[in-house]
This record gives sequence, C-alpha cells and structure tokens, in this order.
Amino acid sequence: LTILGIETSCDDTGVAILDSDGRILGESLFSQQELHSDFGGIIPPLARDLHLENIQKASDSALENANMTLGDVDAIAVTNRPGLPLSLLVGLNHAKKLAVSAQKPLIPIHHMEAHAFTVRMVEKVEFPFLVLLISGGHSLLAIAQDVSKFLLLGSTFDDAPGEAFDKATRRLKLRNLEEFTGMSGGQAMETAASRGDPSAFPIAEPLLHNKDCNFSFAGIKNSARSFIIQEEEKHGIEGDEVLPNVSDLCASMQLAITKHLCRRVGRAMEFVNRNNLLPDDRRSLVVSGGVACNGYIGRAMHFVGSRCGYKVYIPPRHLCTDNGVMIAWNAVEKWKANLDIHPYNALGSIDIESKCPLGEDISAE
Ligand code: ATP
Ligand code: FE
Repeated sequence: LTILGIETSCDDTGVAILDSDGRILGESLFSQQELHSDFGGIIPPLARDLHLENIQKASDSALENANMTLGDVDAIAVTNRPGLPLSLLVGLNHAKKLAVSAQKPLIPIHHMEAHAFTVRMVEKVEFPFLVLLISGGHSLLAIAQDVSKFLLLGSTFDDAPGEAFDKATRRLKLRNLEEFTGMSGGQAMETAASRGDPSAFPIAEPLLHNKDCNFSFAGIKNSARSFIIQEEEKHGIEGDEVLPNVSDLCASMQLAITKHLCRRVGRAMEFVNRNNLLPDDRRSLVVSGGVACNGYIGRAMHFVGSRCGYKVYIPPRHLCTDNGVMIAWNAVEKWKANLDIHPYNALGSIDIESKCPLGEDISAE
C-alpha cells in the first residue's frame, strides 16, 4: 500500500508518499512562513496564491523522490478540514484532479486528527489514549478512541499557544536578530527563552479556578505585550532595536504557557482516571501539533505524566508541524480500517470545511 498525502490547510504546502508501515518514500514541503511573518500574520489570498504556485511542484517532487509515478500509488489523501478556506481549496482541487486523472480513490482528512495520529507512525501507541493538540490555531484535549472517534474534553476560549508565541516574537522583533531568521515564532521563543530567567516577569496563569479542561492564552499574550511595551519604554527602544532582556521576557512567557498547559492536562488526567476512560494499566498521553516541538513544554509534560501514571509520547519535531506525511499516515490508518475511501468517480460530495470540531464534545469537569 502506498498513499500520497497533500496538506495545504494553512501556510505550508506539503506532499508525501508513505507505505503501509509509515516509511516515507518521498516528501516535499514548501513553507510560506517567512513571507507571512513580514506582514505580521497570514494573508489568506497570498497563502492561496503561494499554494497554487507550489502544489504541482510539491507533488511532482515527492513522486520523483519516491521514484514513482502517480499510477503507482494506491490512493490520494488530502486535508479538507479545518483550515483557511482558500488554502484548503487549493489542496482539495489538486487532489481531486490527481485522483480523477489516475483513477485512484480519494481519502479526505481532518487536519487535527492527523496531528493526533502521527506519533503512531513511529511508536506503538494503542487506542484509546489522551491527546493534547497544541498548534498555531488550536489548543485541545481529547480522547482518541479509535481511528475515527474522538471525545473532546476541552479547547481554547480564545487564542492558541502557537499564535501567542508568534505574536510575541513579532512584537519583540526577535527575527531581526540574525540568529533567529527563518525560525518560526515558537522556535525563536524557545531558543531565546533557554537563556532567560523565567521568574523575571510575573505573567499570571489563567483559569486557575476553572474546573474544566479548557484553555485561554489571550491573557498571557496581553500580559506579555504589556511587559514588552513597559520594557521598551524603560530601555528607550526604537524602530528595529531589540530589547536587551528579550530572553527574560521569552522565558517568562514560555513558563506561563507551560504552567497553564500542565495544569489543564493534569485536570484532564484526573477526569479521565475518575471516569475510567482509559485502561488502568495502559494510560497514554500524546502531545502533538507545532507547539509540541517545544522541548521545555515536552519535559514538563513528561513530568506531569509521571506524576499521574501516564506514559507520554511526543512525535519527533519534523512530524509535529504541518506536512504531507501526517496526512498520508492518517489515510494509511483509514485505509486499514476501510474508512472514508471515495472512488474517483464519486468525489462530488467531498468539500472543504473551514471549521470542524474534533469529535463529540463531552466538556470534562
Ligand atoms: P493548526 O494545526 O492549529 O491548524 P498550524 O497548522 O498553522 O495550526 P502547526 O504547523 O501545527 O500549526 O504549528 C505551527 C505553530 O507551532 C506555530 O505557531 C509555531 O510558532 C509553533 N511552534 C513551532 N516550533 C515551536 C517551538 N519550538 N516552541 C513553541 N512553538 C513552536
Ligand atoms: Fe497544524
């Protein structure tokens, strides 16, 4: 079995070809990150144009890498939900075109489900498991019951942690420093934070008294912004200059986000254990999405896991952020379960969905 997976839900154009064991036969990834960061955020029509420019190149080069032609793959998979409509459409239209021209079935994929399962490519994590998905657009806790069934325990009331990191990095003008050019906001933040003092700025932990499993990052983002403005005034920072104590600000923000994540995950674990949602002898937590690249957060998750009797799994960094690999892998899992496989001559019902909750909401308290 070989599957070609396509990802265009946000600002990465990714295509990959996988076999049934999760071996990557060919891969291609075009990131638009640097371009959008010049504008201070993703501009949807620009993202669409760049996807349009790169999608054919990406699928050609993934096939070339794999030494294959389209005729050799068994199915095409594509992210069709959730994401930016203009971006999703480029991927879906391209996938449909490939499916029809090669007469291969199409498997539509939920971007967050794909993030949740990538770890199973490299480690044997059995269902059911608890999953924390933290990325540029999401923060959520769920139980993955099987390939197609999730129970949503909680999600964010406002921003996602990756978004908070990205905004703060921009405000701090971190990428003006040569060392950080080309890095994502979160990556720059983590690198700077590693040399800072996390107790330098007291950023309050949100939702301390909420008994549920939801998140909020807007307060942390705003508090970090206030400290940045205050420090810039204090140090007389102008134009492109960067604060001398930028590392302390990064470390303090990273700590606040980490504490919040840990406390909510701890709550979810209590809820899961109390309601016997996972087998006693095999409790697993999977952490995935772009923010799961963060080593500081990862270590904290391992600590929380060890205190609550959970084994913690985090995919390698290159699989945490968006790529075609995770889409192809989710399709491999669906293929094995005989789910959502649409013949090439019946693709009319497949459309994009810009918003699409992950599973049944059980609002855990
Ligand atoms: P979503 O998956 O919610 O649709 P997305 O696909 O845009 O959002 P991902 O590619 O999954 O997001 O993740 C990108 C996010 O991960 C960015 O916000 C980026 O700053 C963040 N990120 C990447 N590396 C790190 C890191 N080392 N520490 C913290 N955040 C990180
Ligand atoms: Fe993502």
